[in-house]
Amino acid sequence: MSLAAEKAKEQIAKMGQKIIAAGLVFGTWGNISVRVAKEELVVITPSGIDYGNIQARDMVVVDYAGQVVEGERRPSNETQMHLAIYRARNDVGAVMHTHSVFASAMAVAQTAIPPIMEDMAQLIGGGVPVARYARAATAELAANAVEALGELNAVLLANHGVVGVGRDLNEAFDVCQVVERSAQVYAWAGLNGRPAELPARDIEALRSAYLTTYSKLRKTSC
Ligand code: 13P
Ligand code: ZN
Repeated sequence: MSLAAEKAKEQIAKMGQKIIAAGLVFGTWGNISVRVAKEELVVITPSGIDYGNIQARDMVVVDYAGQVVEGERRPSNETQMHLAIYRARNDVGAVMHTHSVFASAMAVAQTAIPPIMEDMAQLIGGGVPVARYARAATAELAANAVEALGELNAVLLANHGVVGVGRDLNEAFDVCQVVERSAQVYAWAGLNGRPAELPARDIEALRSAYLTTYSKLRKTSC
């Protein structure tokens, strides 16, 4: 495998610890992938692996059609969904699927998280819509997720969890954390009054400033 693919495997392995520590997943649920654009390949977590102990050698490499190119294990059950997102969105370099609690509560209520926080506008580009329900691991779920995601960076999977995307893995991780934090803030804000949405023009300005300036200044590591 290329250096880029090997690097992606290492990045995803390190991210396993981080998504557990951040409370975004438990046990073996959730999945992560990184696109290796030059080779039109995707490195993805295997199905049913414990994220607390995942290693680079556990990863599976698939092509855009889902054929396994390298790896001993079975690729994630949600490989179709990850690939459908990469096919629909050239700007996406990493996809993360989590089962975080407050965001899952919104997914169960089948209620979008409105654009209430500035970090949502910056990282997600707006609120978080809900994809129509379809059972986990199905082509229908993949299609519904892509449709609801549109040009945003996050979507709730009805009665299931969250998908966050980013230009790289750090950004996808930040997106998933912001989705969870926003769901918490929304729930608590509702106890204190009526949560107010950001105006559309401010969402656009915040997103644009993030893309052109702020995201270039940020130093993140994984
Ligand atoms: P995998 O273990 O196959 O990645 O599936 C976990 C999951 O969250 C399915 O939606
Ligand atoms: Zn899931």
